[in-house]
Amino acid sequence: MQASHQNKQFINGTWITAVDGGELPLVNPATEEILGHISFGNEKDAALAIDAAEAAFKTWSKTTPYYRAEILKKAANYLRDNLETIAHDMVLESGKPLLEARGEWTVAANLFEWYAEEGKRAYGRVIPTSRIDKRSSVILQPMGIIGIITAWNFPAYNPARAWAAALAAGCTVVAKPSENTPLSAYHLMEALIHAGLPPGVLNLLIADAAPGGEAMLNDKRLKKISFTGSARVGKILMDGASRTHTKLSLELGGNAPVVIFDDVDVDAIAKAASIARFRNNGQVCVAPQRFYVHKNIYDQFAERLSGYVSQLKVGSGFEEGVNVGPLITARQRDSVFDLLTKSKTERAEVLTGGNRPEHLEKGYFMQPAVVGNLDQSSSLARNEIFGPVLPLFSFDDLDDALAKANDTEYGLAAYAFTDNLKTAIKVSEGLEFGIVGINEWAPHGTELPFGGWKYSGQGHESGSEGLYEYMEKKLISIGIG
Ligand code: ADP
Repeated sequence: MQASHQNKQFINGTWITAVDGGELPLVNPATEEILGHISFGNEKDAALAIDAAEAAFKTWSKTTPYYRAEILKKAANYLRDNLETIAHDMVLESGKPLLEARGEWTVAANLFEWYAEEGKRAYGRVIPTSRIDKRSSVILQPMGIIGIITAWNFPAYNPARAWAAALAAGCTVVAKPSENTPLSAYHLMEALIHAGLPPGVLNLLIADAAPGGEAMLNDKRLKKISFTGSARVGKILMDGASRTHTKLSLELGGNAPVVIFDDVDVDAIAKAASIARFRNNGQVCVAPQRFYVHKNIYDQFAERLSGYVSQLKVGSGFEEGVNVGPLITARQRDSVFDLLTKSKTERAEVLTGGNRPEHLEKGYFMQPAVVGNLDQSSSLARNEIFGPVLPLFSFDDLDDALAKANDTEYGLAAYAFTDNLKTAIKVSEGLEFGIVGINEWAPHGTELPFGGWKYSGQGHESGSEGLYEYMEKKLISIGIG
């Protein structure tokens, strides 16, 4: 693989340094070493990117979905061919275990391929009319220039699902990935360049978030911002979007409940939970978070779970057998430690973990923790943790479980485990969340709609719903009288 990015931005078909010459150090979260310096732009670079996307839209939006599909499929194959190199860079910048990085790149490639095909199926509708002298149909057209702002927790998956859908729809893009994980974004960009993406169709803006975001919000040429990140920034975007009537797709995190009924295999669920909760160190918006365990099995579950969690191996993502890497930044680590400390003042009991691992001198590590003796008012129930802490709660019956599980501002993912069909149906219908996993931990996929209720967001990513986020519907009514 020929790396050409040199830590620059890619705007209008060229790798360029930031207009004002800004730079930012990129830190390895496992060692705290500086990996290099990236070119770091501001609102001026954003303006250049929007100019380029505007010019490119004139031609890209007129290409066929078949033409666009060929480019997306070539990009998918480039990612597959270079999997080891790009997974290595993802571990360097994010700290996640190599196995998880490989899996994420595979999914990113699959997203490019899936949207390549789905773009061909953006059918409209012919509607039988109520009048003899008219014919009516609805067609779907590319929305325009899209700003795509993504978070660091999935440095390839987050951008890939939005980029692929927007490009397949015929839109042009100003993409601003997280400044914490630019290396993966460079690789995604290089895949598209290698595949023959014309200049200006997707512009990679590596820029200071606030001025970059403001420039996008203030520019009427940009029709939508697709955002994956915190509820805090989501609100900034919602407020700002009213100025220019910019449309929004928002994926804003969650606080997922896991309801475990007393008819399950307790040991098997405890073991699986110890893996699912700590995937990517809990830095996952659909991460199983608040564990509600039926009172009859609470003690047994807590004991088994603590045993499994205490065996998880913490360390560098490159080390064989490591389950849990570092948190992304010192700030993120401190915020998780602070939440845990606060919960202790609220009488929480730490059953295992929660300290700095003694064998690791550097890096933003935390020993995975299980915490009990909690109620609904606890800080660990009220906040999205985004770190390696598993809070345990108990419940009495289905109604109690649903009341507690739904007692949150968030509404992204929820999970329930039961062997009883009636309970499964009632709990899945009663949970106020956009995604519900029954007896499974991964209720998401390239072909499935991913979106949250309540504070968790607006709109959907992935699946055919994800494609339509980037298309406008147009009613065409033809008079033939
Ligand atoms: P986190 O705090 O977990 O990093 P954020 O929501 O802050 O999550 O970041 C998600 C993405 O939003 C990143 O690409 C980040 O640079 C960007 N971002 C942060 N602040 C703003 C802002 N004011 N306007 C637009 N984008 C922002």
